[in-house]
Amino acid sequence: MNNLNYPAWLEIDQDKLSFNVRQLLDSIGADRELLAVVKADAYGHGAVPVAKTALANGVNWLGVNLIREALELRQAGIKAPILILGCSSFGYCEEIIRHDLTAVITDSRPLAALSETAQRLGKPALVQIKVDTGMGRLGVEPSSLLQLAEKVVRLPGLSFSGLLSHFPVADQSDKSFTLNQIDIFIALIDKLRLRGLNPPLVHIANSAGVIDLTDYPGNLVRAGIALYGLYPSGEVDHDFFLKPILSFKARISYVKPVPAGVGISYGLTYTTPEETRLAVIPVGYAHGMPRGLSNKGEVLIQGRRCPIRGRVCMDSTIVEVGNLDVEPGDEVVLIGKSGDEYIGADEWAYHLDTINYEIVATLASRLPRLYLVNGKIAIRRDFKVLYEEA
Ligand SMILES: *Cc1c(COP(=O)(O)O)cnc(C)c1O
Repeated sequence: MNNLNYPAWLEIDQDKLSFNVRQLLDSIGADRELLAVVKADAYGHGAVPVAKTALANGVNWLGVNLIREALELRQAGIKAPILILGCSSFGYCEEIIRHDLTAVITDSRPLAALSETAQRLGKPALVQIKVDTGMGRLGVEPSSLLQLAEKVVRLPGLSFSGLLSHFPVADQSDKSFTLNQIDIFIALIDKLRLRGLNPPLVHIANSAGVIDLTDYPGNLVRAGIALYGLYPSGEVDHDFFLKPILSFKARISYVKPVPAGVGISYGLTYTTPEETRLAVIPVGYAHGMPRGLSNKGEVLIQGRRCPIRGRVCMDSTIVEVGNLDVEPGDEVVLIGKSGDEYIGADEWAYHLDTINYEIVATLASRLPRLYLVNGKIAIRRDFKVLYEEA
């Protein structure tokens, strides 16, 4: 696949990303826009290349958590509107306004500073209000929404550009809580309208909402995990076809035969029951290969499953290759397809009692990322800039 001899790397298939974007666009219909959630470096996939591909395929908006994530996108020349999903209450008004970012507001505290800065810069501060319809996280209480919205429209320099809320359990098969949230949200939209407040964008649906709900309010959808070809949970409709876009690969660094009775890795938690062969893979928990996979997970070599033996170390993992004909330099698939076998982020998540979101979002930034178009490397994100004085 590449002749660069990386010890370990990620491959992100841009064609599959494009496919997932089109699936989502088909599902949301022509009267809704799609916001690609690229927070946390696009759930570990690399924010800039993912954002560019998503935009090229009809996505209109981007969503991030941090101002610095938004600035990374702007520095890469991306002009699309960006929503700062995280808390915008703590300053950076100037960056928000200068770079045309849209702040999410959950109370009135940041409004005065945003208004003052907007007037000073002679440019509006774009503000969306988040209301808590049942997530129990960020969001103004429904009873205080009207008051907050009126403050936004009264203050000079602020532009009330949207109203949003969030689903906590749309990925569960029982949709009663989510449907009730939708009723609350619709009632709040009506209440604002009665006061003449009509934010141009209204949105509540996440990936699970798009995949599982036949109808939901709003003219924008915020999708994250589905872009990356992963399902929000095992309970959502898997007939909504998505293609996982990420593979995690490495090259075997060392192979050795061992007799029966040999203890393996820190803690010697595994002892070979019989003579076999081991391979060392230059990937460990400091690459995002969780230590919880010790003695549990498997990797793929030549389309065969090879079990992890002993503890995953910081920078290496030992697997049993038995009599497979392997040598140093051979490719190992940690996440992805090899022959007829496949290991997904969901398989890791199962072993670790977590969700695929956490697996991909914690793949280390030290791993080079290769972006494939038509099966060929189109972009590389690696260690070109090793050190730069500020
Ligand atoms: C992360 C996030 C999303 C995306 O959720 P997915 O389940 O990945 O689609 C949408 N909205 C908000 C507010 C978020 O924080």
